[in-house]
This record gives sequence, C-alpha cells and structure tokens, in this order.
Amino acid sequence: KLYNQIQDLRGNIRVYCRVRPFLPGKVSSSSSVAGIEDRTITIMTPSKHGKDARKPFTFNRVFGPLATQEQVFADMQPLIRSVLDGYNVCIFAYGQTGSGKTFTMSGPKVLTEEGLGVNYRALNDLFNIQAQRKDTFCYEISVQMIEIYNEQVRDLLQNGGNKKYPFLVPTKLDTATLEIRNSSQKGLAVPDANIVPVTSTADVIDLMNLGQNNRAVCSTAMNDRSSRSHSCLTVHVHGRDLASRTVLRGCMHLVDLAGSERVDKSEVVGDRLKEAQHINKSLSALGDVIASLAQKNAHVPYRNSKLTQLLQDSLGGQAKTLMFVHIAPEPDAVGESISTLKFAERVA
Ligand code: ADP
Ligand code: MG
Repeated sequence: KLYNQIQDLRGNIRVYCRVRPFLPGKVSSSSSVAGIEDRTITIMTPSKHGKDARKPFTFNRVFGPLATQEQVFADMQPLIRSVLDGYNVCIFAYGQTGSGKTFTMSGPKVLTEEGLGVNYRALNDLFNIQAQRKDTFCYEISVQMIEIYNEQVRDLLQNGGNKKYPFLVPTKLDTATLEIRNSSQKGLAVPDANIVPVTSTADVIDLMNLGQNNRAVCSTAMNDRSSRSHSCLTVHVHGRDLASRTVLRGCMHLVDLAGSERVDKSEVVGDRLKEAQHINKSLSALGDVIASLAQKNAHVPYRNSKLTQLLQDSLGGQAKTLMFVHIAPEPDAVGESISTLKFAERVA
C-alpha cells in the first residue's frame, strides 16, 4: 500500500510552513524572516529598546521563498495518494490575506504550467495512478466545491449560464444555504451540493474556474469575498478492486481558508465586523479541533463551527491532516506572522 510510504508521519497531523517571496516591484531590504534552516523558521521582531528579538518556530517542513510548486507538491504526494487507499485527507491553507494561500492551493492569478497549485497537481496525480492501475482497480473520481461565508454553506459548482455543465442545478448563490449532514448514505457531508465526475485535469480547471466565477459574483470591489470566506474543494474517490470486488472510499478536502488577520474592532462596523467575527470564530474552532486531536483528547469540539462540522469525518480517527501556514516576508506583516506561527505551533 502507498500508505506504507508515509509511515514516517508523526501521527496523522502535519504542519508545513511556506514563506512567499517579496512581490515584484516591492522588494524590501529587510525581511521579518531572519532565517530558514532545515525545519525551523526564525522571525525577527523589532524591539523599541535596542536589540531585535529572534523567535524560532519548528514544523514538519519549512519552505522558503524559492520553493517551487513542484517541490511543495512532491512532499505532499504520498499523503494525497493515500486517498486512493481509502483514507480521508484534509489539506488547509492558513495565513493572513496576501500571504500565498491561494497561490499554494490553486496557483498565481495567471495560471502557467509550473504555477499549477496543489489542487490541480493532486487531481492530476490521482488521474495518473487511476490510469496505471486500470487493470486491477476501477476508480471513480468526482468533486464538489463549496464556500463557507458567515457560517453559511453555499455550492460553488452552480450553473451560471455555463453551457458546458447543463446538469448543474442553478440555485441562487446568495440565498441558497446548504445543510451539513454527517455520515449520510452517500458518505457526503453536503449531499445537496452538486457533485461532478472528473476524468482529466482540463475538467478540473474548468470546474475550478466556474467555482471561482461563482465566488466572484458575490463580491464587490470593496469586498473581496475570497479572503473572507473558506473555500473547499472536495475530491471523492470510489475505488473497486476488480479481483476481490472490495470497495474503498476516500475523500480529500482542499481548503483555502479565509484570511486570518485580526481586524481592529474599533475600526470596522456592520457587515465587516460580522464577517470578521465569523472568521475568527471558525478559525479558532478549527485550531481547537486540531489541537485536541493532536493531544488525543477524549472530547473533540467539532460542533463549534460549520467548517469543523463539514470536515468532522475527515479530521481525526484514521484521517490525515496537513496544515499549511503561510508567511508574508514584509516587516510590517510581522505581527500577523507571529500569530500565524503561534496558531501553527499549537496544532503541531
Ligand atoms: P492569499 O490567498 O493568502 O490572500 P495569494 O495567494 O493571493 O494570497 O498571494 C498574494 C500574491 O502573492 C499573489 O499575487 C500571488 O501570486 C503572490 N504569491 C504568493 N505566493 C507566492 C509564491 N510562493 N511565489 C510567487 N508569488 C507568490
Ligand atoms: Mg486567496
């Protein structure tokens, strides 16, 4: 089994850190990241009274600004393949807005071959194995894509006039909120969200574009919804051993989380404050769940947010979790970087 390759996993929870490079045209002479050495990242926090403080944080992996999408993916490949052996997998991208979450999961805004993120590479890898094993296994792969905004679940794979997917039921994005049902018959946490069979990376790119467009429908220039909602691409795998007829089911959730930045409560009001409170609540609920799984607590508080309810069957037990935390190198991001790394340290 492929899972044998990842027996070195320390438990079922891993934490990776990735530092993005300075953005083109915005290169700064100083960085909040003082160094990356092996599995440790050291952050420089400026002090008003003389000496700057250096804080080290250690994780399962730390990727520096030069790490390529290919290198990042190579490290996750065994974990992703375990979904074909019937394991449930959750991969999270955590970090403040602008730190590189979407880059890791999907890629840059203008997608290139080498820019392809984890989502595409993961599915592509599953398709390759599907082809390799076709004489012994029959795998069916399908995807769902949902968004959690203000503790409401919405289907992102709806037909916004896209002729390619006439079978996708159109519902109104802003009003149709879906229910989460655990351990339903089909094994789907959100049975009412469209589920689409996929057979190629081109299919996946099409669907992700549809999902992204549906997400954009709900945002205005002032309100970039993508940084204030969690988006979750769920890959369902149904595998049948052609000889023994044994059936295996696995699923993988690829989650691009809402920005983790703290907003100043004295500065925001109304909708913006409500959004911030929902994000805060769900990210801390996620931290609480993963931390209590890491500590092997008897009680795991799944019920405290929609996000943890949605992922309940894929967090804990035999399921595998990878938390990817993102760091922006700009000196003025240092406060958020420290709180991101503290969050990560707590779940590691
Ligand atoms: P987030 O989703 O956390 O808000 P993005 O993924 O949108 O952040 O990244 C912000 C900007 O930085 C984007 O222009 C993105 O293309 C760029 N970026 C992020 N990570 C990297 C990276 N590792 N290498 C190159 N550019 C990156
Ligand atoms: Mg993003």
